[in-house]
Amino acid sequence: MTIARILIIEDNQFNHELIEYLLTEAGYLTLSAWDGLEGLNTARASPPDLILCDLQMPVMNGYEVVQKIKAEAPIDRIPIVAVTASSMTGDSDKAISAGFDGYIAKPIEPRTFIQLIEAFLPPSLRLEANPD
Ligand code: MN
Repeated sequence: MTIARILIIEDNQFNHELIEYLLTEAGYLTLSAWDGLEGLNTARASPPDLILCDLQMPVMNGYEVVQKIKAEAPIDRIPIVAVTASSMTGDSDKAISAGFDGYIAKPIEPRTFIQLIEAFLPPSLRLEANPD
């Protein structure tokens, strides 16, 4: 079967490595970008099945990334999920208004993370739902 490729756009080393670890451990393939512009260029060069994107980043923030991705075929069809600092900051609502397909709140909860991200993958690409 096809293994989903998931692009991580996150400048914080701890969060980036944790997300990468959880995805890899679940069997997914990952692509890494450490700022928004690198993420946009990676999405263009090698379109992934899903993008997980931090909001506050150097060079280009997550709001600019989603704006550019959603305005550019064929990458406009890739689901892009914001990884937001906290529901308290209002970032989650802002993320949806900005064009993100959804959001996952930090801190990352390892036990539920894969289930959360799989909601944004087509069923045929969900490894936990399709253990074979
Ligand atoms: Mn950040």
